[in-house]
Amino acid sequence: MEKEDNNQVESLLKQVEEREEELIRLVSDLISYPTIAPPARNTADIQQYIEGYLRAAGMAVDKWESYPGDWNIAAKKEGTDRTKYHSLLLNGHVDVATVEEEEKSQWKYAPFSPRVEERTLYGRGAADMKGGLGACLFALRLLHDHGIELKGDVLLEAVTGEEVGEAGTKQCCERGYTADYALVADTSNCRVHGQGGVITGWITVKSDSTHHDGTRRNMIHAGGGLKGASAIEKMAKLIAALQELERHWAVTKSYPGFPPGTNTINPAVIEGGRHPAFIADECRLWVTVHFYPNESAEEVANEIEAHLLATAKADVWLKDHLPTFTWGGASMIEDKGEVFPAFSIDEAHPALSVLKTVHQTVFEAPLEIEMSTSVNDGGWLAEYGMPTICYGPGKLAHAHGVNEQLDIDELVRYTKALVAFIYKWCNTEKRGE
Ligand SMILES: [Zn+2]
Repeated sequence: MEKEDNNQVESLLKQVEEREEELIRLVSDLISYPTIAPPARNTADIQQYIEGYLRAAGMAVDKWESYPGDWNIAAKKEGTDRTKYHSLLLNGHVDVATVEEEEKSQWKYAPFSPRVEERTLYGRGAADMKGGLGACLFALRLLHDHGIELKGDVLLEAVTGEEVGEAGTKQCCERGYTADYALVADTSNCRVHGQGGVITGWITVKSDSTHHDGTRRNMIHAGGGLKGASAIEKMAKLIAALQELERHWAVTKSYPGFPPGTNTINPAVIEGGRHPAFIADECRLWVTVHFYPNESAEEVANEIEAHLLATAKADVWLKDHLPTFTWGGASMIEDKGEVFPAFSIDEAHPALSVLKTVHQTVFEAPLEIEMSTSVNDGGWLAEYGMPTICYGPGKLAHAHGVNEQLDIDELVRYTKALVAFIYKWCNTEKRGE
């Protein structure tokens, strides 16, 4: 049996090489759909293409609209002995980072007209992550064309909204799609990545009365007699308190695999004041908070609230005008907020040892495991109980950048490792679970 398996894997790996042109064409096709987010709402066509591809690979496809013009796909092929054998979920997002107007002239080729030059594929999304998604689709197609029936289930999610916090992946989880192991094919330079988490939040300071600019003397100088304050100046005090907390976190918290102080609190956007003729009566600060895998988004939000409320209670004006908080959100476009849960890597998981073996064979180098400071949808899969890794082709330095690119030899090797991994893991019997 083992020998037969090895022969199957051998011939699958050979097929990846022989059908390389087809793989490049597939990834190029995916890149040619300008699925930029924001503005998003532009994935109907690419998802129709992917749906057709998956059906041709023998998968059952569930497709639904998440926002008008944006579609998610969850596809599944049931295994022939599915209760006894391991299942695998592959995940990739179809949206890509926006191409800014001023950067367009710096691109060698038009971002959505993919081109190959010296074994490098150029185009928006080549690294993040139409290369990885294309490899997943191609691997499923190869298995199908080989007439291989896996014993365990294999699932593929092609989701929208990853770039703008709309977590199509979370919707797939809510619809009940799950597996024994989950692999996000997002940019990781063919290493295994876990990640810290991210939550955004709005902090608001608001006065209950609005004062004219001419009253400032009465508000701030001896004998003025007017009790009031500038919301902007009070926010400055809260920003200083956030820096204190950030430093405290850097000193007291840590997590293996992260440089100390990765758990930052970034005052990213500030809005406030109405006109130079007024004292600012409202100020809103948008923060980005990074946290470690042993913390939850809710916990760090609570810590920030407690610290800022204590700061405010020690201030003569803020104590009667306590700041308010809005945490997270379901979309950077719709409600200006997002959450990406963290996930760590279970190094003892049997699926990871399978991946280590196939990776070593294909890349002739050991599989590296590290924690990423970047985030993707994998956090949601972990949040819904799946042991999860990020493992995909492409470099983070190229993701979202000018002349985004993917090395074709890396893509080919990745696809080989992936198809061998799917074959082996989905034909591995569950043990005592
Ligand atoms: Zn990505």
